[in-house]
Amino acid sequence: MQVATTTTNRDPDVETVRFAPSPNGLLHLGHARSALLNWGFAKDRGGRFLLRIEDIDTTRARPEFEQAILEDLDWLGIAWPEPPRRQSDHFGTYREALAELGKLGLIYPAFMSRAEAAGHIRDAEAGGRIWPRDPDGAPHYPETDRNLGEPERQRRIERGDPHTWRIDMGAALNGLPANLTWRETGSGPAGETGRITADPAAWGDVVLARRDVPSSYHLAVTVDDALQDITTVIRGHDLFAATSVHRLLQTLLGLPEPTYLHHDLVRDETGRKLSKSDGDVSLASLRQKGLGPEDIARLAGLN
Ligand code: GLU
Repeated sequence: MQVATTTTNRDPDVETVRFAPSPNGLLHLGHARSALLNWGFAKDRGGRFLLRIEDIDTTRARPEFEQAILEDLDWLGIAWPEPPRRQSDHFGTYREALAELGKLGLIYPAFMSRAEAAGHIRDAEAGGRIWPRDPDGAPHYPETDRNLGEPERQRRIERGDPHTWRIDMGAALNGLPANLTWRETGSGPAGETGRITADPAAWGDVVLARRDVPSSYHLAVTVDDALQDITTVIRGHDLFAATSVHRLLQTLLGLPEPTYLHHDLVRDETGRKLSKSDGDVSLASLRQKGLGPEDIARLAGLN
């Protein structure tokens, strides 16, 4: 893929990091940890801190959450030199990346609804088959659509059947170096650091474009990290395993390989990872209670 950088005069030797929240809720301490680690990393190295708004989930993203993210970061003392990159402004770019994978014969339209796929898997399991699951515990997508003939695919697309686009993982891995790796500089719970062997096959045929938008998290994040010249990806350890998919896409699309730093997560008193959807305490509400940015850094485990 031809990567045209979004700004000019970038010095490739300047460390560039990004904080990439999704505007579908208020930021909590876990986000503060990620944002402050990125910010501190850039500051210590005379590097650049970029902000990316990951809003491809058009059903959940809201402008008021985006606004709240900007306010929270500003309050924390974080500044970004360029306007944030908003993913929903770049659907054309993701479409091009998808088309490139299409030309390589590595994607296919996937027509099953969630319920259909779940039914298929239930039947297979009832018949004694052990169904593979991805690192997040979700079952792999059934092979039915991967095996559809081209005329049938065309017929269904022309008929307007809703579909996502999935990678044909077996085909994608064919011809790639057996040992796909990344450089990890974090110290996650299992202490993984150094050259890590990627295992994209563990994810099965992941979605690269959703029904409603021409991208998925995996595709957009990979393309954007390249377009924004990200040198080190600093993010939570919950995305450690997803890096295997990102390294695969980088290799297929001819994109540069950043270094990765997956940091441990902020957990609640029961050891559970914080989450917006569970209504965990937002930075905004901590601020309202009178806490300052230094308190947030301390609560986020930073000093
Ligand atoms: N948008 C993702 C999130 O809010 C982060 C993606 C990333 O850092 O790679 O969890």
